[in-house]
Amino acid sequence: MPKITELLKKPWFLGSLVVLFVGAICWNIPIEKRKYGLSQSGLVTDYTGLLPERVEKVVIAKNRNDLQRIVKKANKNGQKISIAGLQHSQGGHTYYKDGVVLDMRTFNRVLEFNKQEKKIRVEAGATWENVQEAILPYGLALKVTQSQSIFTIGGSLSVNAHGRDIRFGPLAETVKEMTLLTPKGEIKKITRDDPGEWMKYVFGGYGLFGVILDVTLELTEDDLYTIHTQKLKTSEYESYFNRLMKQSNTAMHYARVSVAPSSFLDEMYVIDYNYTGKQAQKTSLKKEQGVRLSKLALDLGRRGGALEDLFWKSQQIYISSLDGKEITRNNAMRSESTFMEYTKPGRVEVLQEFFVPVQAYEDYINELKQVIPMNDKKEDFKVHNITVRYAANDNLTSLNYAKEDMFGLVVLIQHGLKEKEIENATSLIQKWTNLTLKYGGTYYLPYYRYQTKKQFRKSYPKWQKFADEKQKRDPNHVFQNLFYEHYVK
Ligand SMILES: Cc1cc2nc3c(=O)[nH]c(=O)nc-3n(C[C@H](O)[C@H](O)[C@H](O)COP(=O)(O)OP(=O)(O)OC[C@H]3O[C@@H](n4cnc5c(N)ncnc54)[C@H](O)[C@@H]3O)c2cc1C
Repeated sequence: MPKITELLKKPWFLGSLVVLFVGAICWNIPIEKRKYGLSQSGLVTDYTGLLPERVEKVVIAKNRNDLQRIVKKANKNGQKISIAGLQHSQGGHTYYKDGVVLDMRTFNRVLEFNKQEKKIRVEAGATWENVQEAILPYGLALKVTQSQSIFTIGGSLSVNAHGRDIRFGPLAETVKEMTLLTPKGEIKKITRDDPGEWMKYVFGGYGLFGVILDVTLELTEDDLYTIHTQKLKTSEYESYFNRLMKQSNTAMHYARVSVAPSSFLDEMYVIDYNYTGKQAQKTSLKKEQGVRLSKLALDLGRRGGALEDLFWKSQQIYISSLDGKEITRNNAMRSESTFMEYTKPGRVEVLQEFFVPVQAYEDYINELKQVIPMNDKKEDFKVHNITVRYAANDNLTSLNYAKEDMFGLVVLIQHGLKEKEIENATSLIQKWTNLTLKYGGTYYLPYYRYQTKKQFRKSYPKWQKFADEKQKRDPNHVFQNLFYEHYVK
């Protein structure tokens, strides 16, 4: 039998050891789970846990008559009500001090489905995944969702979410009809041509204009796509995207921008989902894959400096490996999310999103280099990831972030929780917001409220009308949350 010292000289043996070692590390990476939600030691928090608050009670929504009774009672006794889906919003949008929280997660039945007319009526606490499970066997898919399928429909419509589809407009546009429990306690059927314009305020209305009970959504075919990936210079992106829009053989698209020191804001990857003319055949919904490996790569990137360069390279290898592969529309709408969980004590990871008009993109990115550090290895405020999505002009909602065709830059940020660290993060994000405003852009409201009231008002010039409509439709201010208190009140 060869001695161990001899074996150690053999490249194949050393290689196998490295593979075993990396495998053992990956296998043992713990999959974290954030502790957030409706009863953390009597305190309610949302996904970031940044704004713990005591509430009077949490009511599990089961029955529309019970919900109606709660709203009517609150109008009489002055109680405040907030609405919670899966609480992935990050700025206290789902609760209010001493208020009642309606937990919508169990209000999730499919009520009607019509394959021929391609429409589904579903209760608002259902997740996109619930809808996908119901429609996949019939070869149908959603028109617009976020990049993951983990959110509730009510929560998604109340922020008027957007995703990777570049052919359909905002999510609000895909709703044919909804049933609303109004702030005065009436149950109303609302259609698109409703003279009362309820959709305008309820969609993107952050739970302040009543409870969405159910919606009828338009569906489309579960097409089969070929993935195309390509590396680009940031300066080439705008013309690449404009060509993509004209050619019309791409259904979905997003991009990643480098935040690694050696290619900081200069390099990008684009990922397109191109029509094949074929439809999905008996494909199942994909489950989360490679969670530990993705987490290992992201954990490296979280350290900044040369390790962030390594993370960017690993993304390059992964993205290139997708080129030419086929994927169904349903599966392209359910990206992994578990690997992003982050639970280090004393630190937090948050999302922010900045929207800039398509034609301003290149200049904006160049100027952004002056706002955030190129190498954040030694900084407390770290940017791990920027993805870019297209958000088409939205004329339907009152607090609309896409006042024209925009690129949304979704940013994953980490910072410490000491007072000074929060101040520093706030100051940097406010500078970033000012830069965005200078280019005619805006920022997304479901995330933590680092921005000032002045920045909110400049970003959302129709805020006063929004506030007036709130007063008119909910005169007792029954529907409340910390987001409204911070920005609008
Ligand atoms: C990892 C991650 C990825 C994300 N990706 C995207 C993305 O790709 N695109 C995008 O646009 N956004 C994205 N978001 C933001 C996300 O879309 C919003 O936070 C969305 O609100 C989450 O849905 P939810 O069920 O968790 O809603 P919640 O956070 O529970 O609620 C959000 C708002 O909706 C209100 N609400 C909930 N249910 C109802 C109802 N039935 N009736 C009336 N009001 C209601 C709440 O009061 C609250 O104001 C992402 C967030 C995370 C954390």
